Amino acid sequence: MTTAVKTKVHNYSAGPCILPPEVFEQAAQAVLDFQGSGLSILEISHRSKPFVEVMENARALVKELLGVPEGYSVLFLGGGASTGFYLTALNFLRKEGFAAYANTGTWATGAVKEAQSIGRVEVVASGEADDFTRIPKGFAIPQDADYFHFTSNNTIYGTQYKAFPDAGKVPVVCDMSSDIFSRPVNVADFAMIYAGAQKNMGPAGATVYIVKEELLGHTGRDLGRMMDLRNHIKKDSMFNTPPVFPVYVSMLTLEWMKAQGGVAAMEQRNAAKAKLLYDAVDRLPLFEGTTAVEDRSAMNATFVLKDAGLEPAFDELWKAAGISGLRGHRSVGGYRASMYNALPLESVQALVDVMEHFAQQHG
Ligand SMILES: *Cc1c(COP(=O)(O)O)cnc(C)c1O
Repeated sequence: MTTAVKTKVHNYSAGPCILPPEVFEQAAQAVLDFQGSGLSILEISHRSKPFVEVMENARALVKELLGVPEGYSVLFLGGGASTGFYLTALNFLRKEGFAAYANTGTWATGAVKEAQSIGRVEVVASGEADDFTRIPKGFAIPQDADYFHFTSNNTIYGTQYKAFPDAGKVPVVCDMSSDIFSRPVNVADFAMIYAGAQKNMGPAGATVYIVKEELLGHTGRDLGRMMDLRNHIKKDSMFNTPPVFPVYVSMLTLEWMKAQGGVAAMEQRNAAKAKLLYDAVDRLPLFEGTTAVEDRSAMNATFVLKDAGLEPAFDELWKAAGISGLRGHRSVGGYRASMYNALPLESVQALVDVMEHFAQQHG
């Protein structure tokens, strides 16, 4: 049997994304033989004791890593963050009420649209006029809104809230898909945090919800059983068959984060990576960042070549250096270096070396 050692590809994919090599190895082993049981993780019952332990452990690790206070439940559900857009509105938007949204890019726009299909939405801040290159600040959130929704990191545009908006007494819901576990957050400030696994926690297929229980059940809507988060809470995330393998791999990644020193350590590593890359973007005249400097994402760094005609030559160079996934999202073009938790500093150094080399050739 070959081992699952990763090749030397520097994976900048925006999602599904790089995970730690240890996690790939453990996950591969569990597919073949889960904990010496003679069974694969893919063929065991989700009600079996070993898997119930996985689920419990994954939920406990989320609580530990983020310091989730009493009164909150942690769920792992299917459906992706996009289903989270819909579940947010269903579970928090009262029949006669309205929700306030900040629109900071493609995913935030998706969240607005999904909520509009349920009820009344007020977009209280939008970065659209600036092509989503900056995070709107200083906007007012109506104090009679049912909740305020924002997207902490804008995966496609490469912007990130450095400070979270003050919503006063309005419950806050945040899509943290692309920066959860990248830095400490004060969970008590949120009614709900949700995130698709595939940006910083695991493979596609699981979505984590961290929800303040007492805020559920006040919308006056009949949600149907699967859409009502209270049913999933009551059944400890086992109301129906959970995404067994994504939950398992997420658990492994969460264990890895803990062993690395937790989210505070992740934040330090991520800051060092972001500094290394953005310094190169600013230092080398061929390149240009695409977002407001103060809103630059530590997770997804977006930049362009000032002369787009040089792109084919640059592409050839980074591909030859074993770099993968550097192209910007198809809707914006340019380049995007996604530097999630598992991307090592050496991979950023490899990219910066390529950029320097290219600048020498073409400067
Ligand atoms: C990727 C992403 C989504 C969409 O996630 P799916 O799991 O594909 O539904 C939503 N929000 C943000 C911030 C994302 O980065």
